[in-house]
Amino acid sequence: MPVSAQGTPIDRFSLPDDRGHFGPYGGMYVPETLMTALYELQDAYQEAKEDPLFAQELKRHLKEYAGRPTELFYARNLSEQLGGAKIYLKREDLLHTGAHKINNCLGQVLLARRMGKNRVIAETGAGQHGVATASVCAKFGLRCVIYMGAVDMERQALNVFRMRLCGAEVRAVEAGQKTLKEAINEAMRDWVTNVRDTHYILGSALGSHPYPMMVRDFHRVIGQETRRQIMEYENSLPDEMVACVGGGSNAIGFFWDFLEEDSVQLVGVEAGGCGPGPGRHAARFMGGRVGVLHGCKTWILQDPDGQIEPTHSVSAGLDYAAIGPEHAYYHDCGRIRFAHATDGEALEAFQKLSSTEGIIPALESSHALAYAIKRAPQMSSDQILCLNLSGRGDKDVDQAERILSSK
Ligand SMILES: *Cc1c(COP(=O)(O)O)cnc(C)c1O
Repeated sequence: MPVSAQGTPIDRFSLPDDRGHFGPYGGMYVPETLMTALYELQDAYQEAKEDPLFAQELKRHLKEYAGRPTELFYARNLSEQLGGAKIYLKREDLLHTGAHKINNCLGQVLLARRMGKNRVIAETGAGQHGVATASVCAKFGLRCVIYMGAVDMERQALNVFRMRLCGAEVRAVEAGQKTLKEAINEAMRDWVTNVRDTHYILGSALGSHPYPMMVRDFHRVIGQETRRQIMEYENSLPDEMVACVGGGSNAIGFFWDFLEEDSVQLVGVEAGGCGPGPGRHAARFMGGRVGVLHGCKTWILQDPDGQIEPTHSVSAGLDYAAIGPEHAYYHDCGRIRFAHATDGEALEAFQKLSSTEGIIPALESSHALAYAIKRAPQMSSDQILCLNLSGRGDKDVDQAERILSSK
């Protein structure tokens, strides 16, 4: 069993506490006007969790609509070329809408219906969470409003079109840097005003309690399937598991059922951008410190006055100043180790997986791959490295083409 820095054993089931704390992190740092909505959500989620019919229905939609279970694929060519550990890829990239995000959106849309809400709002950065949310709202017949920074809307015009095709209204946010942080502010403002008929589908294991817990739980299926599959294929647990970390939802879902397995190393990979220094990356454990953002206490990239620092990453999905509170906790305990990959390393990994296996990964997932490409050769050929391939790269090919052809 892993132990905290204080030497006490970790019991993953005891976290968070009923006010949403993971040790010193998490919590509910929101205006009074949102507390009622959050308590209502917490109660509804608790009830749903205890209702076997809810789990059954979610499982059915995950299979029929999203395409679960996803395969755990032995990347033989890549493994043999690198010469070291056997690399397995958890194929979340094969899910409907192209990434793991649909797991959480399906869970939350069922919850919204259960609470009798007929309107859904969400924030989106690159547009992946917006597309997944718009899709489930179309399927379940709920009104859908997506908040997106005006700059992001321009950069991700195709995703805006996808959301609109699915019947969502996309609202441009013109404040501040006009990106994800401002879009979350706007979504929270909308929620305060319309809380009676509106559910807010937050897109990562972030924000105020109960979101970090709830979003994690909806992604746990990734790790549960991985465990079953690797036992079937190798009759052994992996030696190391790797995932990229934006807010941290794909990583915590992948890791969670292995937290108490001492023999399994867990590694989260953040966006190293174009190197160290303020504004040049989004690696919260490289230059960040503890603060509060969007309802939750965690590690944040901020200047000496506590102003949120601008961030940079080639992958929009990792480009956020705060990390999920559960990751902050396991970072401090030493249970999850964190590394980072630069823009350049991620782009190389993006090409490498495409050319060796014919699988084009999302630029986010390419950060985890970049780490694995360095790490696998240091391991022996009877060891196993499992990597969560959080999404597919179709959305990134234009950008990659532009960058690579200008070199
Ligand atoms: C959004 C996204 C991420 C980052 O989000 P997490 O909450 O950290 O998982 C990673 N990979 C892909 C493909 C994404 O779309």
